[in-house]
Amino acid sequence: MGLLSLGTPLPWEQAKNLANEVRKHGIEQFLHIWRSMKDREKDQLLWGDEIEYMLISLDHSRRSARLSQRGHELLNILQIEENEKLKIASTTGEKHELEALWRPEFGRFMIEATPGCPYNSTVKDLTTVEANMRRRREIVASLMRDEELILSIGSYPVLGSGDFLEPPHKANGQFSRSLFLPDEVINPHPRFRTLAANIRERRESKVMINMPIFHDTNTPHPFVDPTIPYERTLFPGDKEAKEGAALPDHIYMDAMGFGMGCCCLQITLQAPNVDQARRLYDQLATVGAVMMSLSASSPIFRGYLADVDCRWNVISAAVDDRTPEERGKRPLAKDRFVIPKSRYGTIDTFLGSDDGQLRPEYNDLDLVYDRDIHRHLVDSGIDDLMARHVAHLFIRDPLVIFEELLDQDDSVSTDHFENIQSTNWQNVRFKPPPPNSPIGWRVEFRPLEVQLTEFENAAFSVFTVLLARALLAFRNINFYIPITKMDINMERAHSRDAVLNEKFYFRRSCIDEDSRDEYLTEMTANEIINGSVDFIGLLQIVQMYLDSIEVDDTVRRKIATYLDFIRGRADGTIMTTAAWIRDFVRSHPEYQFDSIVSSAINYDLVVALDDIANRRRPAPELLGEGNS
Ligand code: ADP
Ligand code: MG
Ligand code: MG
Repeated sequence: MGLLSLGTPLPWEQAKNLANEVRKHGIEQFLHIWRSMKDREKDQLLWGDEIEYMLISLDHSRRSARLSQRGHELLNILQIEENEKLKIASTTGEKHELEALWRPEFGRFMIEATPGCPYNSTVKDLTTVEANMRRRREIVASLMRDEELILSIGSYPVLGSGDFLEPPHKANGQFSRSLFLPDEVINPHPRFRTLAANIRERRESKVMINMPIFHDTNTPHPFVDPTIPYERTLFPGDKEAKEGAALPDHIYMDAMGFGMGCCCLQITLQAPNVDQARRLYDQLATVGAVMMSLSASSPIFRGYLADVDCRWNVISAAVDDRTPEERGKRPLAKDRFVIPKSRYGTIDTFLGSDDGQLRPEYNDLDLVYDRDIHRHLVDSGIDDLMARHVAHLFIRDPLVIFEELLDQDDSVSTDHFENIQSTNWQNVRFKPPPPNSPIGWRVEFRPLEVQLTEFENAAFSVFTVLLARALLAFRNINFYIPITKMDINMERAHSRDAVLNEKFYFRRSCIDEDSRDEYLTEMTANEIINGSVDFIGLLQIVQMYLDSIEVDDTVRRKIATYLDFIRGRADGTIMTTAAWIRDFVRSHPEYQFDSIVSSAINYDLVVALDDIANRRRPAPELLGEGNS
């Protein structure tokens, strides 16, 4: 989440009438960026990560662990120092020495941190990532009270269940209207509650999230959740649960906070020029699913063990603002498109690049896009694939419009473009350079689940960066598969222990060759990452890249620990966080084998996870031998 605009966000009734205006200017802003930036060359391979944390407050005497609303308070303190230093740096022209930058997130209990400056293009800099991540944890920790801790985990196990919030509040807020989540979980900046309310209003109902329950030996068949207040009559939407929104055998959730209250690990990579950024965008999109399965860390939602290990689909449903017409539930009358996916989801179209590898059949979705915008972009000199990409992003409405920011100079501002761009939350994001800045064309890799420890987060980051560098260095590497297969992969990556049990569509050979008819096959994560007699494996590609450049021994050894870890996750010798958490719950003496994660089990789990994160509890099964 970037910096926030200040001002008065408009309620949906008003915002919806301004959507065309925002889109029109957003497109002009994009054209302006394109014209001035398309010929940028030789930008450095800078990159940076984003890690999200949750602040938790423990009550040892009651064995309870609750999400703390003080997250927002700590963030304010962190940002005061940041703003002061940035101000000094901008007036003196000297480099600031901030170790980290702090950003708000949807949850009031959340804090996001990035490195103070992006990392540079050397391999040596990859060895500083873990220490920087650790400093971020220490900096937050220095502001915490004795009973507080921060965790970087995908989903908070008991979010929306029982007494989970500190201080406690009733679920009766106007913005989410959730049966489970009080509005107090939402970051108090007006942008966030407006997002939640406008999504609900645009959709004409509450969001509807159903994750399959993990049927344990004592879980009832069918499982009908007795904790849902079906009979509440506070808001018109309250009857939705009873009328079918809450599916049997599923964990039902009804608010944006269930999704955007999850934490993740994202990696932004700068490319030398726009064409290389397009290459990275396409190629990284296709490896996202298998990487997500390795990083799986979200097996519990709203106090129940789920039959999935990842958060992605929860967020996707949590921000699904499509109207009934757009969802195909009613014939099109007032809306313009039937839209198959949520605005949080996998990409719908590849961008192609000068490597010439993109074949038309890979873009096999019947892409929904705004024809007028497309024509205008093409008439303005944008190529068809890029024009389709942008015209597809722009089928969405801007969700939050700040009254004060409506009037913009389209040659200087990108606010309206960013409004729509930044609420298209996809597995990869193509980020054009901001106007008048030294920043170039970037791609954000977004499917990874956040890990508990700095070691794991660094390992996933370093692996991703090296894979991206290999893709730029070896132009004959080709990961293209059809978009619809990428979607299937992403679904499969969710399932419980996907890394061990699933197969993913992948290219039979990813070194460009030409067995055109049968280029596709299905492989396990282990085969894709570690290779097989028939397939080279992504680790080998990374290794080839490392062998092609000069790397000194210390750096090589450090990187090898990360690559070994990735190898172990893929071959199953190292557990995923999700598997570890599920195991912990199922071996807890108080667990009744009924899928229920009680408040006391949650407390013990949180304490154990915090011990691992702070290296008080060795966990070689999770981190690999020698890494805990
Ligand atoms: P978002 O688009 O998610 O709001 P930001 O643009 O604020 O994110 O930056 C996110 C990440 O991009 C951070 O990790 C930051 O270090 C990194 N970053 C910043 N500048 C660059 C750059 N020029 N190239 C690559 N990464 C960068
Ligand atoms: Mg974020
Ligand atoms: Mg981001």
